[in-house]
Amino acid sequence: MRVTPAVLRDTYRLLLNCRTFHRSNMPSRPRLVASGSIPKWGDCWVHPYPTIRISTHLRTLHAIQRTVAHEMVHIALEQAGSKGWHDHGADFRMMRASICRELGWKQRGF
Ligand SMILES: [Zn+2]
Repeated sequence: MRVTPAVLRDTYRLLLNCRTFHRSNMPSRPRLVASGSIPKWGDCWVHPYPTIRISTHLRTLHAIQRTVAHEMVHIALEQAGSKGWHDHGADFRMMRASICRELGWKQRGF
């Protein structure tokens, strides 16, 4: 599967249904960018506008879903006021455990 803006939009909207994200004030329509300049995975920022960039080098639906969910965890932590929202510290690991449990995913590599 190719990473396209439509795939990213639908993936984001699907993942918004997760209980893990219901506790956070997730942006309903963030900027979702399919980027060929990121070698793999993705990145995100919140200001001036919530943005998630996902690498077009990803090739499977599973990898796309996991990568979007990973960036959504960062956004959710920022929205919750976590000082370490951009890193993979304790807050990230707690939310990672929650989303992976909810979706039946392995935490390893998330
Ligand atoms: Zn990360």
